[in-house]
Amino acid sequence: MIECTRRIEWDAMHRIPGHESRCRAFHGHRYVAEFTFVAPELDELGMVVDFGLLKDRIGGWVDEKWDHTAILMRGDPDPAVPLLVRSNARLGRPVYWMDGPPTAENMVAELAHISKSLLADTGISLKRIRLWETPNGSATWNED
Ligand SMILES: [Zn+2]
Repeated sequence: MIECTRRIEWDAMHRIPGHESRCRAFHGHRYVAEFTFVAPELDELGMVVDFGLLKDRIGGWVDEKWDHTAILMRGDPDPAVPLLVRSNARLGRPVYWMDGPPTAENMVAELAHISKSLLADTGISLKRIRLWETPNGSATWNED
């Protein structure tokens, strides 16, 4: 099997409701996601996957939905949320709602679900996504 990996980066704000420390405050990250794909053999062009296709599909989704906005938990009780929702909508960067807290763990699972649906018609095998929330901390999803 041959693997290849593509990085996609974006900037976003989140907070973890109920966190006992500073992560409960609104703050931002430069997120880095490493998508690893696998194939039993290379295609006729000598590739596992066309990086341009990944950039268009996954990069396009991330750019539209997660870049330069807030990624929040649905039902986040912080009093600033309604204002943030209105402001970001007005500015063309609507808040992205997660069903659970927007931790790296939950975000990488969401990204895997979305990436698989974005690539469903391609035959590309997604093996792993590693999402770096900071240079020192990441969460990894693995196809099992
Ligand atoms: Zn954070």
